[in-house]
Amino acid sequence: MNKLPLLEDLPPVDGRRVLVRTDFNVPLDDGRITDDFRVRAALPTITWLQERGATVVCASHLGRPRGKPDPAFSMEPVRRRLAELAPGVELLENLRFDPGEEGNDPAFVARLVEGMDAYVDDAFGAAHRAHASIVGPPQTLPSAAGRLLAREVEVLSGLRDHPRSPFVAVLGGAKVSDKLGVIDALLGLVDALVIGGGMCFTFLAALGNPIGDSLCEPDQIDACRRLLDGPKPIHLPSDVVGLDPAGQFATFGTRLPDGAKGLDIGPGSAAAFADVVLDARTVLWNGPMGLFEDPRFAAGTKTLAQAMADTKAFTVVGGGDSAAALAEFGLADDVDHVSTGGGASLELLELGDLPGLAALREAPNAHA
Ligand code: ADP
Ligand code: MG
Repeated sequence: MNKLPLLEDLPPVDGRRVLVRTDFNVPLDDGRITDDFRVRAALPTITWLQERGATVVCASHLGRPRGKPDPAFSMEPVRRRLAELAPGVELLENLRFDPGEEGNDPAFVARLVEGMDAYVDDAFGAAHRAHASIVGPPQTLPSAAGRLLAREVEVLSGLRDHPRSPFVAVLGGAKVSDKLGVIDALLGLVDALVIGGGMCFTFLAALGNPIGDSLCEPDQIDACRRLLDGPKPIHLPSDVVGLDPAGQFATFGTRLPDGAKGLDIGPGSAAAFADVVLDARTVLWNGPMGLFEDPRFAAGTKTLAQAMADTKAFTVVGGGDSAAALAEFGLADDVDHVSTGGGASLELLELGDLPGLAALREAPNAHA
């Protein structure tokens, strides 16, 4: 596969206008940015360009305005924060105010690239979408992967191509169906899979356990059974905690009574999962172990996060909610890489490529 063109592969940018596709999809509360991590994350690329004399024009989506202007998703709060962090940067209005963005309309692409001399993609979280601002500009402009995007690709491709063994993937979160494709792909890469979170109950059901009112996707039970019958070890919880039929906090084994609901892995499972993480040399974690937003059901996720921080393994965390949990426990700096793109990171692991990356490799300045 061709290498991604990097910033160094752009023609001189002095006095040029460079369109930078950033991921400024920040969390907002009543028009205020609650976490500016994504704005700060774009600074290395923006600074690199500005130091070389470029005029930087950033463009991003924000939320889901569904193809029409919506003041609730205006880029104005981002524009104010950006002006403080990187004076002199221009910022286009929310790309998704125009249906041409998600529709990858050539006319919208033409408007985006008008007056631009080069294009940089630093929006890893959107690289799995064939949207206009992602795949359009590299068709005509000299293009490059920004620092953030390049680092994501380096780390995640490394997990696919040369992980140090034992390589363990820990998966959680709510839905099996969301992650079934990647589970399949990961089983080809890892030495063992650990499954917690809401998705473990469909697996427990596939083993014939009653699971009460826990999350379950009946149409995925056969697929789970097939995965469990495969050659790679899949670790499932040996105990769970949740609510009993009376709505009281309770601990269960792997068989839940009628009306009970499993909402976190139990302490025995958490300790066992932590041991697997501590013994590994590469760990990928995606998806919380339980309903961690409720403090009663955060213990499993917290134990796993602590093991991610303590292990000597190379540790990668993907997924918005897992990253949020890690940050909440104050452990975000103790893992090797926190991916900024949940869906994009899983899709890159599953397929080995993304539309946004393929587009950059086809750019006029990319090496053959
Ligand atoms: P990520 O964003 O890290 O990829 P997901 O979006 O797949 O993770 O899933 C995260 C959500 O799953 C969280 O809101 C969490 O509360 C929920 N969840 C985890 N375990 C359970 C469970 N046992 N029952 C219900 N919801 C759960
Ligand atoms: Mg999520």
